[in-house]
Amino acid sequence: ARKRDDSVEGLLAGLVQGDRYALARAITLVESSNPRHRVQAQKLLSKVLQRESSLASQQNTTLANVTPSPGNQEQVNATALRADEKPQQQQALGPQPGKSFRIGLSGPPGVGKSTFIEAFGMYLVSQGHRVSVLAVDPSSARTGGSILGDKTRMTELSRSAMAYVRPSPSRGTLAAGYDICLVETVGVGQSETMVADIVDMFVLLVPPAGGDELQGMKKGIMELSDLVIVNKSDGALVDSARYAQIEYTSALKFVKAISSYWKAKVVRVSSMGGPEGGIENAWNTMKEYFNVMNSEGELQRKRGLQRKIWMWRQVSSELMDLLNEDAQVREMAEELEAKVLRNEMMSGAAAHKIVERFMKGASSS
Ligand code: GDP
Repeated sequence: ARKRDDSVEGLLAGLVQGDRYALARAITLVESSNPRHRVQAQKLLSKVLQRESSLASQQNTTLANVTPSPGNQEQVNATALRADEKPQQQQALGPQPGKSFRIGLSGPPGVGKSTFIEAFGMYLVSQGHRVSVLAVDPSSARTGGSILGDKTRMTELSRSAMAYVRPSPSRGTLAAGYDICLVETVGVGQSETMVADIVDMFVLLVPPAGGDELQGMKKGIMELSDLVIVNKSDGALVDSARYAQIEYTSALKFVKAISSYWKAKVVRVSSMGGPEGGIENAWNTMKEYFNVMNSEGELQRKRGLQRKIWMWRQVSSELMDLLNEDAQVREMAEELEAKVLRNEMMSGAAAHKIVERFMKGASSS
């Protein structure tokens, strides 16, 4: 076997080639709490990002130089999604990080997320794509989502050499060599927003039922959705799936669109329905989204805003780390917490004191 190169450069080279070992090593590095590993992880992440943005700006140059005539527009779209039209050539060219498409998948437990990802992932692999599947669980987050449990149900997909399935951490940045990255939400609460902040497209999976089910759905999650997929549209459930499709379509009319270039759509699939299950149709809708957003420059804008959000998330998390490590602050905080608990001090005033002490410590060190 080839000797494994665990240096930052070695891992970067491996990531770009879509080497699974390098990806697994890199993820372990990022998740490590060892300070030395964290430094290496930061180096690696910035190198991956540098690569992505230089590739993306090459893409931008092409876009900027193109006069927006219908013919040229077609050409741009064809370049952007060349991977789909010519799977063989895509393999020969190798995966291209700058052209990755990140798709977030969310939905209530039992809706069929694992089953869908398995079927969808296998379909994409059959089209010549390299697929990575990551999952974000904000409850275990250090700087934004980490680790999750059992993905063993996606057995077929995990075995495919073209796919990488692993419970994994932050951002999907590391899955650089994979042109399609599926990010599944795990857990509850803020996980949907967190995933929406790292993906190009947010997809909501719903069960074949409307009415009460729809009533219980948080409005916020509908607002995040670029595509709603009614799953389990098979057998005796087809009629209710159709009904659900109609209900969600009309419900979406009352939801403000995120982008002026895209209106959320609703499609039906059966994740267990094989070639007739509508997976291809769902993928065509996703491609349509990618094409529109990419050619309008919306995708680049969206990614820019997301990077800004994550910069500030990282700032807060690093500041909190420093604060927690500060012995003086810790000592003082205990006292203040007690006072706040007993209602002897306003929470805002206590927070202010903590920050003040922290700043004093920081400026004197
Ligand atoms: P998750 O909790 O969202 O990951 O849901 P799972 O993928 O574990 O699926 C929950 C259940 O729904 C399982 O029993 C699946 O077999 C079933 N299921 C998933 N997709 C479909 C589908 O397209 N049609 C039908 N009839 N059942 C499905």
